[in-house]
Amino acid sequence: MKRIIALVLSVLLSVMFIAGCANDASTNQTETTVDEIQTSTGCNTQPTTTVPVTTTAPATEATEDTTAKEIIYNAITSNKVSSDLWYDPTEPTEAPVVVPVVKPSKPANPDATGDEAATTPEIQRPTYTTDDKNYKYIAFTFDDGPHYELTYMFADKLREYGGVGTFYVVGNRIHGEQAEAMKYAYDLGNEIGIHGYTHEYYYHTCSDATFRSELSKTAKLITDITGEAPLTMRPVGGGITSSRVKSSGYVVINWNVDSNDWRYTSRYSSYVKKQNVNAIVENVLNSTDEGDIILFHEIYYNSYDAFCKVIDDLYKRGYRFVTVSQLLALDDSDRGKLYYNAY
Ligand SMILES: [Zn+2]
Repeated sequence: MKRIIALVLSVLLSVMFIAGCANDASTNQTETTVDEIQTSTGCNTQPTTTVPVTTTAPATEATEDTTAKEIIYNAITSNKVSSDLWYDPTEPTEAPVVVPVVKPSKPANPDATGDEAATTPEIQRPTYTTDDKNYKYIAFTFDDGPHYELTYMFADKLREYGGVGTFYVVGNRIHGEQAEAMKYAYDLGNEIGIHGYTHEYYYHTCSDATFRSELSKTAKLITDITGEAPLTMRPVGGGITSSRVKSSGYVVINWNVDSNDWRYTSRYSSYVKKQNVNAIVENVLNSTDEGDIILFHEIYYNSYDAFCKVIDDLYKRGYRFVTVSQLLALDDSDRGKLYYNAY
């Protein structure tokens, strides 16, 4: 009899153990840490909290009538991160809109004078129609500048292809030659947005006072130098809470194509440089599609070398290059929204 009881108990315990494992395995969550968030973006501040990420099905394929904004909202709503980080999945998405005609708002290089005017041809910037089926529109973004040399190089390369981009700048780098470089990029029609003042804080972990200060000090510098207040903002490392998205007063722009260029900055030898540049090129070309927002960093020469190859290839494949605000047809009514989850 004792043997039979022992056998029954043993079977019961085995069943309970298997059920427990199955329960663990059935959970639909993976864990990612702020460490991983910063690793994915090359940022260098304090890791602490753990963020649960909910995995969901990929976006359904867009129909012919799907507008650029719908595509982006579909992407957002199909790849949510849970908790109060990022975009709140319970928020109503905006009703589909007719894709607007996006026209450049500033003349090319209006402040060119003297030698610069003599050597810089007047650029007729194209009028972008994002519903023109002949072209596919994307937005290049460049973080962490301005840079006294590379800012000019990126802006000129964009101009060479009749395009513009968006520069998310760091306030404490906006001075002297770097401030002039930022103004040059702005005058060519590029968009200047806020990244942060110090680049030392994540916006989902820092204090309210720091959050406000990082944004307002950078916004003032951009406005003082360009004469135009920024509309869009990119959080350091892509991290921000939904409440701060809403209270920021800006359209918050993350990305959905990551060049991972900060991982490949070494130019130790011509071989290493070539390998690294090729890695960045492949990261972008293997992932880019219509309507994408692509992350580069403005402060690395390998990034520029890779960008030259990327823009040439994409141009030949029918892509054209607009600012984030042009791509998304942003205006003041979009303040407090978040585009993309940085993944
Ligand atoms: Zn950054």
